[in-house]
Amino acid sequence: MKDVKLDPNEESTYECFDCGTVVVSATAPGSCPSCGADMRNRGTPLE
Ligand SMILES: [Zn+2]
Repeated sequence: MKDVKLDPNEESTYECFDCGTVVVSATAPGSCPSCGADMRNRGTPLE
Protein backbone atom coordinates (compact mmCIF):
# COMPACT_ATOMS: atom_id res chain seq x y z
CA MET A 1 0.00 0.00 0.00
CA LYS A 2 1.36 3.36 -0.99
CA ASP A 3 1.10 6.40 1.22
CA VAL A 4 1.23 9.38 -1.09
CA LYS A 5 1.25 12.73 0.58
CA LEU A 6 2.91 16.08 0.22
CA ASP A 7 5.86 16.69 2.46
CA PRO A 8 6.48 20.39 3.07
CA ASN A 9 10.16 19.65 3.51
CA GLU A 10 10.44 18.14 0.07
CA GLU A 11 9.06 20.00 -2.91
CA SER A 12 7.16 23.23 -3.24
CA THR A 13 5.47 24.70 -6.28
CA TYR A 14 6.72 28.03 -7.57
CA GLU A 15 4.99 30.08 -10.23
CA CYS A 16 6.46 32.82 -12.36
CA PHE A 17 4.93 36.25 -11.82
CA ASP A 18 5.47 37.15 -15.42
CA CYS A 19 4.81 34.16 -17.70
CA GLY A 20 3.18 31.69 -15.33
CA THR A 21 5.80 28.98 -15.68
CA VAL A 22 5.46 26.50 -12.84
CA VAL A 23 8.53 24.97 -11.22
CA VAL A 24 8.40 22.26 -8.59
CA SER A 25 11.53 22.33 -6.49
CA ALA A 26 12.73 21.62 -2.99
CA THR A 27 14.47 24.98 -2.98
CA ALA A 28 13.34 28.35 -4.27
CA PRO A 29 14.40 28.67 -7.91
CA GLY A 30 14.87 32.41 -7.44
CA SER A 31 14.12 33.31 -11.03
CA CYS A 32 12.05 31.87 -13.83
CA PRO A 33 13.92 29.41 -16.07
CA SER A 34 11.94 30.68 -19.04
CA CYS A 35 12.02 34.45 -18.68
CA GLY A 36 14.12 35.24 -15.60
CA ALA A 37 11.34 36.97 -13.68
CA ASP A 38 10.75 36.47 -9.97
CA MET A 39 9.06 33.28 -8.85
CA ARG A 40 6.51 33.06 -6.09
CA ASN A 41 5.72 30.09 -3.89
CA ARG A 42 2.20 28.91 -4.62
CA GLY A 43 2.22 26.99 -1.36
CA THR A 44 0.10 23.95 -0.70
CA PRO A 45 -3.51 24.84 0.13
CA LEU A 46 -4.33 21.20 0.76
CA GLU A 47 -3.78 20.01 4.28
ZN1 LIG B 1 8.64 33.47 -16.43
